[in-house]
Amino acid sequence: MVLDAFRLDGKVALVTGGNRGIGQAVAGALAAAGATVAVLARSRPVDEPPGTSAPSGRAAPLWIEADLASFPAAAVIDQVVDSLGRIDILVNNAGIIRRADAVDTTAEDWADVLRVDLDAVFRLSQAAGRVMLARGRGSIINIASLLSFQGGIRVPAYAAAKHGVVGLTKALANEWAAGGVNVNAIAPGYIATDNTAALRADEQRNAAILDRIPAGRWGTPDDLTGAAIFLASDAARYVHGAVIPVDGGWLAR
Ligand code: NDP
Repeated sequence: MVLDAFRLDGKVALVTGGNRGIGQAVAGALAAAGATVAVLARSRPVDEPPGTSAPSGRAAPLWIEADLASFPAAAVIDQVVDSLGRIDILVNNAGIIRRADAVDTTAEDWADVLRVDLDAVFRLSQAAGRVMLARGRGSIINIASLLSFQGGIRVPAYAAAKHGVVGLTKALANEWAAGGVNVNAIAPGYIATDNTAALRADEQRNAAILDRIPAGRWGTPDDLTGAAIFLASDAARYVHGAVIPVDGGWLAR
């Protein structure tokens, strides 16, 4: 059956930043599609009893509490493989944003954003890629942004990192396609999460954003889940280096 190609039964996924926002929705969707999902973040959700459940309400067999600004990537992937037996899907979702004009951006903010939003994506992909290439199969999904294509307003480090994520996605796709590893990206538009709460609270900015989105509304984390399941699944076996915008038409305008 055609829909079977979208099932993820028997696959093991690691979702960074899977404790809230987009990552939480993606982790829940991969689990609902049949995957066993490990979640990495600096903290567990406050309302979750430790070690017992995922935000999706399904069992989270593995929580990894780690800071992507300073973490041993190979050890994280080893932990997933040791605990869950394999790794088939890596979703590099965790990300931070710091807002300041370029002339006021501190060296610390620049380094923090590049470390979490780009360096960690490379280091985790490299560690997972080694395991996946050895098995001849795997899927890596990087969460990019509209600011992988545009400069944005007062977010120079974030725009630089997210442009880098798309470049890295293509570089890895190019190297690893022959080894059976699919590397792709999703570029979310304006999605209602903690990350964007300040924008939504600013009445003028919010109105300007809504006016610019062809779909006429903010996206929700659940809007990202269809693209994530597709890219994680065997339905995307011949998809390498793609960047799927899920943005209510923003980039089409
Ligand atoms: P949130 O701010 O809601 O969540 C960010 C997630 O990243 C949290 O789970 C957080 O967990 C984790 N995280 C942040 N820093 C670290 C770190 N140093 N180590 C480990 N985990 C970390 O963000 P969104 O859900 O909005 O964004 C998810 C991704 O989507 C990001 O890459 C973002 O850039 C991208 N994106 C979002 C858009 C939007 O409109 N929301 C638009 C375009 C792209 P914790 O704090 O517990 O560590």
